[in-house]
Amino acid sequence: MAASKALTPPARLGVVGLGLMGVPMARNLLKAGYALAVYDVNAKAVADFVAENPQVQACAALSELARACDAVITMLPNGKIVRSVVLDGADNLASGLAAGKIVIDMSSSSPVGTRELGEQLAARGLAMIDAPVSGGVKRAIDGTLAIMIGGEPEWIERCEPVLKAMGKELFRTGGLGSAHAMKALNNFVSAAGFAAAAEAVLAGARFGLDPATVVSVLNASTGKNNSTENKFPQQVLTRKFGAGFSLGLMVKDLRTALEVAQATGMPAPIAEATVREWAASEELLGPGADHTAMVQYVEHLAGSTIADGRVQGD
Ligand code: NAD
Repeated sequence: MAASKALTPPARLGVVGLGLMGVPMARNLLKAGYALAVYDVNAKAVADFVAENPQVQACAALSELARACDAVITMLPNGKIVRSVVLDGADNLASGLAAGKIVIDMSSSSPVGTRELGEQLAARGLAMIDAPVSGGVKRAIDGTLAIMIGGEPEWIERCEPVLKAMGKELFRTGGLGSAHAMKALNNFVSAAGFAAAAEAVLAGARFGLDPATVVSVLNASTGKNNSTENKFPQQVLTRKFGAGFSLGLMVKDLRTALEVAQATGMPAPIAEATVREWAASEELLGPGADHTAMVQYVEHLAGSTIADGRVQGD
């Protein structure tokens, strides 16, 4: 399967999944000069996007979108849905893609499933790369996502102009599935850091410290992480809990990270504890809650909130 020329504008791309991330990413593809065809099970998401961008082709079926495009980007909740959209569903992309066309899965999918899907597509003459992202809705809007990329180098080179329209830093991680493994491991480190900060800020408040001071000192000290720098000042101390990444998606990523560690045969007690705590918070708050609301689970366990302040040793 030989990769042909780079996918530069005005190539027509398909975008499947117009959610919190898919919409701003698609907007940046339009800004870069690509022609787009879009599909989502949520008809309103498609209607809203086409109302905003009338030049975009709305597709009623995945096979129709596949026939219209040189490459298709999937930005879907998980790898099982990606698999159904690409290959298994009654209406699917593979039935409409001609040999030599490519699927770019930018969702945070499970790497094992990605490898299996890639092999099945390759048997049909279709290519696939995994290109999950980090940076959240804000960096999706700014077009400055970090993008991890796995797959055959020639296909990655072909897709690089597309990815550069949405991201700032592109990292080649190895073969197909390696980027999905990397993405899950990143979210494990991010979630563990968030959970540690949640306990620390609450413990500090219960001890009589001012929560804002705790966060400021962490950020000037070695305890600093992305959560203390961004999520705590913007989403937690303000009680906005609206970062734009759901608790359900975070728990899915954490389970994937634990699977990656376990697949190598290593003990991973921190990953296990992280999955357990975040899954318990999902039970309490529901999968649709913002992931930053996990703080409310920590508060629930303790029986006091960060805002309650000192509860011991008054
Ligand atoms: P989202 O739930 O907002 O959007 C998902 C979209 O997929 C929705 O519009 C939904 O209708 C659509 N969809 C679901 N099933 C479908 C199907 N069978 N066919 C077509 N469309 C379907 O999710 P999101 O926050 O945009 O996240 C998308 C992916 O990106 C996830 O894998 C997530 O883990 C990952 N991610 C999210 C963020 C973030 O900050 N939100 C950051 C990095 C990575």
